[in-house]
Amino acid sequence: MHKKLGLKCGVEIHQQLEGQKLFCSCPTLLRDDEHHFIIQRKIRASAGESGKVDVAAAQEQLRNKLFSYQGYHDTTCLVETDSEPPHEVNQDALYTSLQFSKILKSHISPVIQVMRKSVADGSNTSGFQRTALIARGGSIETSEGKVRVANISLEEDSCKIVSESVDEKIYRLDRLGIPLIEIGTEPDITSPEQCLESAKKLGMLLRSLSGVKRGLGTIRQDVNVSIKGGTRVEIKGAQDLKQIPLLVELEMKRQLELLNIKKQLKGKKLNKLKIVDFSDMFKKCPSTIVRECLKKKGKILGMKLEGFAGLVGKELQPNYRLGTEFSGRAKIKAGVGGIFHSDEIPNYGIRLEDTKDVKKGLKCKKSDAFILVATDEVRGRVALEAVYERAQELWLGVPKEVRQAQSDATSRYMRPMPGAARMYPETDVSLIRPMKNITLPELLDVKIARIGKAYKLGKDLATLVVKSGRSELFEELAKKYKSIKSAFIADVLTGMLVEIRRKYECDPDVLTEDDFREILSYLANDKIHKDIMLDVLIDKIKGNFSLKRYESLGTEELHDVIKKIVQKNPKAPMGALMGMCMKELAGKASGKFISSELQKIMAKGHK
Ligand SMILES: [Zn+2]
Repeated sequence: MHKKLGLKCGVEIHQQLEGQKLFCSCPTLLRDDEHHFIIQRKIRASAGESGKVDVAAAQEQLRNKLFSYQGYHDTTCLVETDSEPPHEVNQDALYTSLQFSKILKSHISPVIQVMRKSVADGSNTSGFQRTALIARGGSIETSEGKVRVANISLEEDSCKIVSESVDEKIYRLDRLGIPLIEIGTEPDITSPEQCLESAKKLGMLLRSLSGVKRGLGTIRQDVNVSIKGGTRVEIKGAQDLKQIPLLVELEMKRQLELLNIKKQLKGKKLNKLKIVDFSDMFKKCPSTIVRECLKKKGKILGMKLEGFAGLVGKELQPNYRLGTEFSGRAKIKAGVGGIFHSDEIPNYGIRLEDTKDVKKGLKCKKSDAFILVATDEVRGRVALEAVYERAQELWLGVPKEVRQAQSDATSRYMRPMPGAARMYPETDVSLIRPMKNITLPELLDVKIARIGKAYKLGKDLATLVVKSGRSELFEELAKKYKSIKSAFIADVLTGMLVEIRRKYECDPDVLTEDDFREILSYLANDKIHKDIMLDVLIDKIKGNFSLKRYESLGTEELHDVIKKIVQKNPKAPMGALMGMCMKELAGKASGKFISSELQKIMAKGHK
């Protein structure tokens, strides 16, 4: 089915790097605590060196927003606030991007020029993002064939958005300037599953590098999709990998539906744009949105779309109609909350009787649709013009645009596809000559297979060890303590920590490599018993670690304590005994140990 529709799909991945920022020495630390200062900016669109004003910049200016930036004195500096030129490029980040390029057999540029890419949504204090093309070409293999790499770039991350209202966008500076490796593939992907496989593979290769950040939000995936007769549409911000196939599928559906509408409209023409003020006629309308608007001296404006009855309500994606598509444009271009269209009325408190005069005023026939908007006059006009413009584009098929993925895998209009006017050289940073001696890391999938085989770990456990980022420590300990089962060491470094975090509300991240070395050495020397390992780890996290206590409570003594409890309560059921033992031995032995000892003693007692 995807082949028949002529799906062409590419994937783009952004991976954050660890360490310092790309053009200053601030740490790549993301913060949630109270910010120390705020600076404010307004951004104007200006002609770039080519003389063209960027569409995206002009569109954003129309919305006339104030941009506020929250910063920290100790982890952000004058580079992030754009009060000081960028420093030389971060050599570690450069090295990591070169390693990645080599893994993909991409052709590294002999000289690298940092560029400025216009960004008008305020997500960068300077109004542009610095980006450097590192390499072109190369490929990855998938089960459905080769996917070529288009380019690999090193760029700075944008500010994180804190909140947005009609007049103001608030950003935080902590994320701004974090190095990102950006990789984009050619549109060689021909099925939604292959898109997922490609994204997974690139993610695995990126995580093979020691310089990348790990954890939630450190990697972001975008996809671009087109079908035969359609247009390349970029969808940003897939929520997680699993969403990718559906995201691709639903964009194919949207493009297919838009192409059907184009067919349907063939030979017809869109009526002239005429905006009519209906404010007086809505005075009795019970809709809260309408009443609030009129109270603030806003207007209810309307326009007709000839022949669009039924069409505006047409579903392009699940719960996403042509009307939603119109609304998306109006929201972004005019900053309105949304629009009303005739196919959805009655709704939002607007009754059919409220629209009688609208139909009359617009001379609507049965086959015509109308659009209403409730806001101030200027925004209202811009909103309806945006809807009109989008309606006109239906005759062309699928408009070229950037969209934002939603949690249900549908997408919303974000901005037009940026043109070539968007890039120009960053003259504050000198040309970069990439270093030549690049050593490559062991790839994750290779490492998982090797560790699994060498230490007799199942694939799942080997994967956990490698993904935990403690594989080197694991190998060191497993080699050193041959008397301890490798699988047990692996469990200490992975599964037990997960359990501690989940069940005991402690943060195992405070444990250092030396903590593990120390604990394992006690275990190897019989100073502690493996059955109480969970408790030992918890004690260590809480700062209650005391070797004396574990020594004084050898398993024999624990056994005696449990035995005494059993003898004292000959008729108590297992559950009650367990409770008593747990209480008596709290912090000295794990539930697992107590339970197995208890069972042993009970079994003996019954013989
Ligand atoms: Zn800085």
